[in-house]
Amino acid sequence: MTLAARPQIPGTRFAERLDRAAAGTAAAGLDALLIGVGADLRYLSGYEAMPLERLTVLALVAGQEPFIVVPRLELGAAESGLRTEIEIRTWDETDDPYAMVADVVDAPHRPSVRIGLSDTMIALHVLRLQAAIATQATYESASSVLRELRMIKDADEIALLRLAAQAADRVVGQIANGRLVGRTEADVAREVRERLVAEGHEEAHFAIVGSGPNSASPHHEASERVIEAGEPIVLDIGGTLGGYGSDITRTLWVTGGDPRKGPDERFRHLFSVLHGAQDAATRAARSGIACSAVDAAARTRIEAEGYGEAFFHRTGHGIGLEGHEDPYLVAGNDLPLRPGMAFSVEPGIYFPGEYGARIEDIVVCGEDGPVVLNEAPRELYVVEG
Ligand code: ZN
Ligand code: ZN
Ligand code: ZN
Repeated sequence: MTLAARPQIPGTRFAERLDRAAAGTAAAGLDALLIGVGADLRYLSGYEAMPLERLTVLALVAGQEPFIVVPRLELGAAESGLRTEIEIRTWDETDDPYAMVADVVDAPHRPSVRIGLSDTMIALHVLRLQAAIATQATYESASSVLRELRMIKDADEIALLRLAAQAADRVVGQIANGRLVGRTEADVAREVRERLVAEGHEEAHFAIVGSGPNSASPHHEASERVIEAGEPIVLDIGGTLGGYGSDITRTLWVTGGDPRKGPDERFRHLFSVLHGAQDAATRAARSGIACSAVDAAARTRIEAEGYGEAFFHRTGHGIGLEGHEDPYLVAGNDLPLRPGMAFSVEPGIYFPGEYGARIEDIVVCGEDGPVVLNEAPRELYVVEG
């Protein structure tokens, strides 16, 4: 897939998002949202700005048209990156960009103002903005407004998540059918990254290849360990396509062609419990159900088999422009699922020092039930490797 062919969110959508963010800002009683470089900026404007020490900030100030402050040398990037009409205010090297924001946010006639800052704005910029704004101000997270918008994916966003999922599915199939035994995890991880890009991702973000005992470490980095016949591999891979994330985990068992080196009984049992738990959690992911209940659907199954201690992470995380975002499928999160929410369902069972397994799909909460975006088989991949 060439860059030109990569699908895009229609430009009109960004204007709608800005309107909704402005309405949300007013409804929350905030005087301004200041959005630094990151997923919030991209969501609202389309602009995938470089994170720099020079300030770039999108300002949504109550009662005013949105504007974006950018360093002059980033003007070209901003003009081509912005997908909707937003006034660009550039600053030169000797200007004070913080004052350009403060001048608009300051309200001399008011005792105080409330300002929402995007979660990924770096402290360097936060502290200088705070110093520049003269009016007594309280600062909070802009996510009180943006979380609600970003959590509910529209049809174009879901289409991109699906394309990303399908591309990652193909890579899983390619890796499972290729050579593995005798190669290092790092070598396989490099192949994963190349294949993710070859299948249409603009970037590969992670390639966890956990072989043998490393399969018991959920966030294992691919190492120089050489993969041997007669052991499992947890393959957890993902990147972005059109800005939206893929994230899939499948568990393989490599035999090296030796029928005596297949999975042992304990591993087969572990895997069947995991498979049942992942399926139960996926089926539980329906509109109106609390995030915590989806986690519980997987966890109770695993606990019932005595493996509760071996499942020590949450069941899933939201996914979109960020690889991990709201909603989180975790005990204690009573947020009800709503149609359009997209998240991973990824229980795992790990015996530290020995081996482990995980199955992960990206699932969208649909009007009529869960829609699973990944189509790669969920069974244990017993392969020659
Ligand atoms: Zn993770
Ligand atoms: Zn993953
Ligand atoms: Zn994940």
